[in-house]
Amino acid sequence: MATKKKWEYSPAPESKQPAAIASRYELFINGKWQKPSSGNYFNSINPATEEKLSEIALAEEADVNKAVQAARQGYEKYWKKISPTERGKYIFRIARIMQERARELAVTETMDGGKPIRESRDFDIPTAANHFFYYAGWADKLDFAFPNKKANSLGVAGQITPWNFPLLMAAWKIAPALATGNTVVLKPAETTSLTTLKLAEIIQEADLPPGVVNIITGAGQTGALLTKHTDINKIAFTGSTEVGKIIQRTLAGSSKKLTLELGGKGANIIFEDAPIDQAVEGVINGIFFNQGHVCCAGSRLYVQESIAKIFIKKLKDRIGTLLVGDPLDKNTDIGAINSAQQLKTIQSFIKIGKAEGASFYESDCALPKKGYFCRPSLFTNVAQSNRIAQEEIFGPVLCILTFRTDDEVIEKANNSPYGLSAGIWTDKGARIFNISKRIRAGVIWANTYNLFDPTSPFGGYKESGFGREGGLQGLQPYVQLS
Ligand code: NAD
Ligand code: MN
Repeated sequence: MATKKKWEYSPAPESKQPAAIASRYELFINGKWQKPSSGNYFNSINPATEEKLSEIALAEEADVNKAVQAARQGYEKYWKKISPTERGKYIFRIARIMQERARELAVTETMDGGKPIRESRDFDIPTAANHFFYYAGWADKLDFAFPNKKANSLGVAGQITPWNFPLLMAAWKIAPALATGNTVVLKPAETTSLTTLKLAEIIQEADLPPGVVNIITGAGQTGALLTKHTDINKIAFTGSTEVGKIIQRTLAGSSKKLTLELGGKGANIIFEDAPIDQAVEGVINGIFFNQGHVCCAGSRLYVQESIAKIFIKKLKDRIGTLLVGDPLDKNTDIGAINSAQQLKTIQSFIKIGKAEGASFYESDCALPKKGYFCRPSLFTNVAQSNRIAQEEIFGPVLCILTFRTDDEVIEKANNSPYGLSAGIWTDKGARIFNISKRIRAGVIWANTYNLFDPTSPFGGYKESGFGREGGLQGLQPYVQLS
């Protein structure tokens, strides 16, 4: 197969101008921008250039207390008393302003986090706005969501998000909380706070009553203070399984409700009767999308033995055509790894895989001199018990295993501490239903991968966490039924 050459494309960089990033961001508490009590700030950098983008307020104990108090007052004074229809209007307004500022949000997301502009422009930002639209619709229809029951709000929700889909994760958390009548204190991840801070500007512009949404910034320490606060009714966390376990221990014995969206090691399963070229594209999208910084990535590929040779060859050819580089370039397929730390983690897993005896193949593309970049790669001759097949790498590294029978692949796919996502590629509808019933994963895609919609719930089994976000099910964690 003739490989498409990378240099057929002329550079098509998006302008940085629309991002309009301020040189400094304060904390958004009680509807106002407030300086951190300690006077401390930390930098957010662009991982593609290593340049400083802005400095961000570091929230410490006094600030966390202030934010929770503002959320409590916002709940008692305003949000609890406002009619559900009015609540819906506020949420709808947030969605509309997000659409108006979509370009600004997309460029900011790409500069702050390193993901290709194509992803932030076509996926992250529109999907985030859609979540607000969707939950705006539920605000005055909770009686239909929970027939014959009354859905009572909980009070104040503390929410913590990761760095891989910053604005989208904030939308997944804030929209259902507000629709069900709760107020919020949210802390974004420290490497990617900027779009969440812009969301705070949007919330201010939408004129929400003071204290209904508060955004505090900082690292794990700030997050830990939030989870320990005694005047919070609910914690929603998305991040690593390791931190999820710490939070679960912190909350043990308290009456706080908890949802955890944690890691994954998705099994993408290709049967010999699958449409091969479509499946190759699906595998590429499943793992190399967003640099593999995706909890539900199809990072374990199971190919039926009879087609393994041809499938792996096609995959390698396709990997060779992926464009790695400037995330602001509209042609870029794989942008920058989010941080130096994450790049180190990925590199150490590549070393581990080689030491475990697996065969390594990577694209021969050139990498930019500055910034954190990683070539797309894959491992073959992987054993089920290898660390690279069991642990989350969270980068553009695919592990390929083979199988012969349905029973064998189900056993292998389920042999994982995680259970977030899976994919099945086959021509037979009956096989899709049969296999998907027996795989323990929250989301299972058939003949596609990594498709999202606000109406469809998302969440995991086992060490991938519990509780669902999105859809009707996403309302449940924010209500007490009576
Ligand atoms: P992380 O757990 O290190 O951090 C997540 C968030 O928690 C950040 O905001 C961080 O500041 C905060 N935090 C860190 N320590 C804390 C503590 N002790 N108490 C409270 N908060 C704390 O994860 P990450 O590296 O930012 O994100 C990558 C991980 O997130 C991956 O494992 C990935 O699978 C997972 N993830 C899961 C989903 C999902 O929906 N299941 C979505 C995205 C990412
Ligand atoms: Mn950053």
